Amino acid sequence: MLPLVYSPAYVTPLPDGHRFPMPKFGILRDLLIERGVASETQFHCPEIGSFEFIASVHDPAYVRSFFDGTIDRDAIRKIGLPWSEGLVTRTRTAVAGTLLTCELALTHGLACNTAGGTHHAHRGWGSGFCIFNDIAVAARTLLDRGSVGHVLIIDLDVHHGDGTATIFYGDDRVFTFSMHCDKNFPARKPPSDLDVPLDKGVGDGEYLDTLRKHLPRLLERVEPDLVIYDAGVDVHRDDRLGYLALTDNGLYDRDKDVIEQCRSHGIPTACVIGGGYDKDHTRLAWRHATIHRAATDVWQQAASTV
Ligand SMILES: [Zn+2]
Repeated sequence: MLPLVYSPAYVTPLPDGHRFPMPKFGILRDLLIERGVASETQFHCPEIGSFEFIASVHDPAYVRSFFDGTIDRDAIRKIGLPWSEGLVTRTRTAVAGTLLTCELALTHGLACNTAGGTHHAHRGWGSGFCIFNDIAVAARTLLDRGSVGHVLIIDLDVHHGDGTATIFYGDDRVFTFSMHCDKNFPARKPPSDLDVPLDKGVGDGEYLDTLRKHLPRLLERVEPDLVIYDAGVDVHRDDRLGYLALTDNGLYDRDKDVIEQCRSHGIPTACVIGGGYDKDHTRLAWRHATIHRAATDVWQQAASTV
């Protein structure tokens, strides 16, 4: 069965009415079970990430200041989440969860986290609800271990993957690909290895055509040992922060396309959920479940053809 990753530590309380939809991670896990996408036995639970693990990418002074709560107010304001012990545990566990998802993908070919994709975290600072860059820490850890030689990051969150781009700038072992809405956060977009900016209002047809133009070439050119796929759902037409116009079907087709392409090239694929913003947390969580539904369908198709 398709390996999935979740920890109860993924959810920690935020002040009432906070813009960040923290409950979505727990709701997502529950919906996957309640609506028959997954069973309890498919879930793997990560440990809490250590200081050394996170400092393999991030400035040790920044990591220490976040761990012990001495991080300054400006840095916290830029992140946009109030500091708490629970937030520290949540963040450390989510980073470890993405590494676990990658390890499961390397063993089983495909795996999905129920969190992750904090791509606005840079080496020495966080922004846009992102504290540590789980994608970068997971990739760096596997490269340092020698488990992989090349990693391709496919970042289809509606926002540019600026933190991932700066962390891996000049590192030939990691290819960063970001397809995003151009007129959206962050204002400054440092170069990824491939950036594909889209205009506001782009819908299913143009979006999928553009993706299909780039992805096969990229997989052949990079020949990665692992793909980490950020399946942000803030490209959806009902997203509060997105400005693109994908439908439910467009989102499903996107996710299935990415996974099928990677699979047809024999590349292990680890999926993280990325961003998504909606006041209705159940509707939002179910939108995030698109990646788990698409991955399950590809997994079952593959199983039935063996
Ligand atoms: Zn986003």
